[in-house]
Amino acid sequence: MARPRVCPECGQPAFEGGEVRLHGHGLVRRQQRGPPAPGQAPATEVLLCRRYLCTGCGAVLTVLPASAQARKHFSGAAIALALTLWGLCGYSAAQVRAQVSDWVHTGAAARGWRSLARWAAQVAGGGLFPALGVRAQGSPQQLAARAAQALCGTCPPEARPQPLPHQAFAGACHVS
Ligand SMILES: [Zn+2]
Repeated sequence: MARPRVCPECGQPAFEGGEVRLHGHGLVRRQQRGPPAPGQAPATEVLLCRRYLCTGCGAVLTVLPASAQARKHFSGAAIALALTLWGLCGYSAAQVRAQVSDWVHTGAAARGWRSLARWAAQVAGGGLFPALGVRAQGSPQQLAARAAQALCGTCPPEARPQPLPHQAFAGACHVS
C-alpha cells in the first residue's frame, strides 16, 4: 500500500523538485468479502486503505492491497473461485454463492447469482483481470469457464497439483 509513483489521473510524479506532490490523505475502510481459502467459510474482512491527495489535479487516490479488485466488494481470489466452481466444476449459481458469499439471500434472490455472469463478461471483455488477456465470446457460463482456465493457468507451480478451485484461487493472487 505504498504511495503511487505518479498520479494516475494527471501523471504528475509523487515527488518533484524535492517536493511531495501526492500527500497522505488518511485511511478509508473497505469491505472485502470471500472465503480465506477454497472450502472455508466466507466472511467479510475490513481492510484499511491509504488515500493520497494529488496537489496537481486534486484527485484523491485510494491504494488497494494486491488482493483487492477496484470497484469490487469481493476479493480477486473469491471471484476466481466463483468463476471456477460455476464454469468448470458444475456448481449451480446458488451453490457457488453459498461457497463464496457470506450474505444470506432468501426468496427469489436465493435461486441465482447475477454477479457470476457479470464477472464472467467483465473478464472476457478485459475489464476484470485484464492481465490475463482473455478475449472470449459465448454464454455466461462458457465465459466463466474460459476465465477460470486462464486463472488456473497463472497459478504458481506449488499449486498445480491441487484441485482447480485452489489453482484459480492461487492464480488470482498473481494477476491483476
Ligand atoms: Zn493528479
